[in-house]
Amino acid sequence: MRVKHKPWAKDRLEEFPAIYIKNPEDFKGSWHEVFGNNNPIHIEIGSGKGQFISGMAKANPEINYIGIEMIESVLVSALDKAIEAEVPNLRLVARDAKMLEESFEKGEIAQIYLNFSDPWPKKRHTKRRLTNPSFLTIYERLLPKAGEIHFKTDNRSLFEYSLVAFSEYNMLLTFVSLDLHNSDYEGNIKTEYEEKFSAKGFPIYRLEAKFDRN
Ligand code: SAM
Repeated sequence: MRVKHKPWAKDRLEEFPAIYIKNPEDFKGSWHEVFGNNNPIHIEIGSGKGQFISGMAKANPEINYIGIEMIESVLVSALDKAIEAEVPNLRLVARDAKMLEESFEKGEIAQIYLNFSDPWPKKRHTKRRLTNPSFLTIYERLLPKAGEIHFKTDNRSLFEYSLVAFSEYNMLLTFVSLDLHNSDYEGNIKTEYEEKFSAKGFPIYRLEAKFDRN
């Protein structure tokens, strides 16, 4: 993804401490205090410009959401959407998914969303894919036993890779669609990438998976 560098992004994010959590490590194990309730916490990893996570927060006030995006120049667009949405149940964090265990306790996250993750098509970059087993190990620690990962993408190769990765990790696939927008799945909230690629006629692939097979 080409990203326009915004040198002012960091300062702008820090102007909104009620939404942007500058030091997420400080809240490891106590995120419920950040939200002021015990509602479940769902995170989106690679939340980009934030349309999905803001939409989800607005649609589901009984769930707390955290958008995690490693590029501040991108996250600053998600900040604008969060301000506009005026929701108390949304926070934003600028971190690489590799570092998530420094900010969240075991089982602290109820659900993980991965939307239109970068496909990293070259074999030597496989480890950077957010559905690589090295990331699944992290997700498994963050989620409780019944916690789920919901993943959507326009990229067939990444989807196939992920189906295999999840299966080989012995996860249970509970939902698979090869054409989400023509399926009977209800309540879909579109991401920026989803709008762009579905407008070009690409099918959207979606799956739900969990570590607990019972
Ligand atoms: N989810 C958004 C959407 O569907 O419109 C953005 C998709 S964009 C292709 C992928 C985003 O994931 C980028 O903004 C990128 O910076 C972010 N990302 C990639 N790897 C990441 C990682 N390891 N940790 C956090 N964010 C990551």
